[in-house]
Amino acid sequence: GQCRVVCPTGAITIMHNISPVWKLIYDSNVRVVVQIAPAVRIAIGDKFGLPKGENALGKLVAALRRMGFDEIYDTNFGADLTVMEESKELMERLESGENLPLFTSCCPAWVKYCEDQFPDLAKHISSCRSPQQMFGALLKEEARENREDQRKTIVVSIMPCTAKKAEIKRPEHWTDGEQDVDYVLTTQEVSRMIKEAGIDLAQLEPEALDMPFGISSGAGAIFGVTGGVTEAVLRRLVNSNKVADLEAISFTGIRGVEGVKEATVTLGEREVKIAVVNGLKSAGEVMKKIQSGELYYDFVEVMACRRGCITGGGQPVPIGPRTKKARVEGLYRIDNLAQIKLSNENPIIQSLYDGMLKGKEHKLLHNNIQR
Ligand code: SF4
Repeated sequence: GQCRVVCPTGAITIMHNISPVWKLIYDSNVRVVVQIAPAVRIAIGDKFGLPKGENALGKLVAALRRMGFDEIYDTNFGADLTVMEESKELMERLESGENLPLFTSCCPAWVKYCEDQFPDLAKHISSCRSPQQMFGALLKEEARENREDQRKTIVVSIMPCTAKKAEIKRPEHWTDGEQDVDYVLTTQEVSRMIKEAGIDLAQLEPEALDMPFGISSGAGAIFGVTGGVTEAVLRRLVNSNKVADLEAISFTGIRGVEGVKEATVTLGEREVKIAVVNGLKSAGEVMKKIQSGELYYDFVEVMACRRGCITGGGQPVPIGPRTKKARVEGLYRIDNLAQIKLSNENPIIQSLYDGMLKGKEHKLLHNNIQR
């Protein structure tokens, strides 16, 4: 079940999943697998006195291992899967000319907003599951295939966001009627669990993620900041890892803090018109103009939170201008340091498409609703 924490002032009521996750960790019949979203690692350090924007992934891995999680993976890997499927979908729609623009689907607050406020445009939303959902489905499929381990597999996600708790409950993301991600913990909730375990995150020596899903690209890392999904998809479509080409993509105008950013990119013979939107106020304005025909785009990225998941509702607060800047820089620094920049150059992704995922892309990585 879930626990309800009631704010003493009565101002907020938050659902949290701390107690059931602790119970599962201590249950020897259960294998608890955890994945960490891109924006969590550069924010969680705030709770433990680390410098703003510092990548605390290694320390977080060390803490989760001490707490008893059985396997620790990275949602950046799930983001690499999303890039593969979303860029395929964009190419298909550009070829057929149907349901353009393609809207991104990785932010559940945006998806819900579009469905409620602009139902006639909902068919534009990508059929791709979000990175946490793709990864959850893959982990469950792997558990079904690996019959040697008799334990039940539970997938927990650590997310910057409370909307992700609602996303995992939507049956159109499930596989064969079964929920793929079992629990979502926010960055704040995991910080509490770490403190409950008596661990000082700041003092831990960093540790590595587990394999086989512990390798991800820089493209996956930047999903946590506005413009990141678009940049990752463009890298895949341009399909070049040359520094000049990567820089050209980053300078198209998709980076930055504005509520709406526009870019035009030439792919083959085609000029592709892109809008990158952050914040639902800006999204509403753009949607109205798309609806009326005043604006035309081929691809629209929307993140409900200003500047993307770095300011998500489950992240440590306060998030002043200095913190925002440091978190954005923190994510781009992870990308700068990544040896693999393109999702399709991630060797694990390549081997999955040739192996376990073959013929199952639709079943595991896409929604099962017709919009
Ligand atoms: Fe969640 Fe905000 Fe990220 Fe959307 S932009 S997925 S609401 S944290």
